[in-house]
Amino acid sequence: MYDVIIVGAGPAGMSAALYTLRANLSTLVIGKDGGALEQTDKIENYFGTGGVISGKELLEKGRLQVENLSGEFLTEEVVAIEWAESFTVSTQSNKYDAKAVIIATGNKRNTAKIKGLDRLEGKGVSYCAVCDAFFYKGKDVGILGSGEYALHEAMALNGLVNSITVFTDGKEISAEFPSDMKIVTEPVDEITGEEKVSGVRTKDGSEYKLDGVFVALGTAGAGELARKLGLPVENNRISVNPDKSTMIPGIFSAGDCIGGVLQIATAVGEGAEAALSAIKYLKSLNK
Ligand SMILES: Cc1cc2nc3c(=O)[nH]c(=O)nc-3n(C[C@H](O)[C@H](O)[C@H](O)COP(=O)(O)OP(=O)(O)OC[C@H]3O[C@@H](n4cnc5c(N)ncnc54)[C@H](O)[C@@H]3O)c2cc1C
Repeated sequence: MYDVIIVGAGPAGMSAALYTLRANLSTLVIGKDGGALEQTDKIENYFGTGGVISGKELLEKGRLQVENLSGEFLTEEVVAIEWAESFTVSTQSNKYDAKAVIIATGNKRNTAKIKGLDRLEGKGVSYCAVCDAFFYKGKDVGILGSGEYALHEAMALNGLVNSITVFTDGKEISAEFPSDMKIVTEPVDEITGEEKVSGVRTKDGSEYKLDGVFVALGTAGAGELARKLGLPVENNRISVNPDKSTMIPGIFSAGDCIGGVLQIATAVGEGAEAALSAIKYLKSLNK
């Protein structure tokens, strides 16, 4: 059981880790990659770098700083966060428990411009298998996605629904789906249905009759993780209080995933605020 798990190893997550570690809290940082900084060649507007620095170099320095304080890092993709007495953070192959969680997963949104997707949201199009699986008991469903996150969603439905068809929308499959799940690699043309989902049509004109479609494209982002927890999400951003706490005691969020000024300086500041709030929260548990 960690005191704090930080999901996201960008400036917000690493800044938060510096604070929780210095408060003597056992801290695990899980990040699937270098986030937005990895795509940034030149940063000229962040304090203390002596001029221009690359995103990669800034990340390396940040990580070293966290490791020097005995912070633990894992390169894994988080697919769900569950809430009972404490929190369980799941990756495809592992589960980690913590008393508090800071979500700092950045701003990347995995959307697909597929006809019918937005219109049928809540009418057979779902973004959370764990939340909605029960409504599809004995029915035929589709999963839109091709990776570990899609596999996680599929497994939440497996055994409960009648059949699962995985639509990769033209992508290569990158996770090991059970052999009884049908894989369709043809790009998706439309999620069909008037009042509710009736199926999926692919670009080659094939029609698949379905009762529901679960969207699990790319990686679980802030919006998806928050939805699973039942946290309010606006425009795919997690809604937070001024101290970066959320509606769920023990869950905090910071950085690009809460919106605002999407810059390193703000992410670092918000990471610090989220960590200070988490420290306060953990102290209140021990009273
Ligand atoms: C091309 C480009 C140039 C930029 N230039 C500048 C600049 O010059 N100056 C400036 O101040 N800002 C710049 N920015 C913005 C800046 O990079 C971001 O504001 C900042 O990185 C946000 O930090 P963050 O920690 O919130 O998110 P990110 O840096 O995006 O980090 C998110 C972290 O979450 C992880 N993650 C996401 N989902 C999961 C999951 N499911 N499981 C596990 N880990 C997950 C990612 O792997 C990553 O580690 C630029 C951004 C881009 C894209």
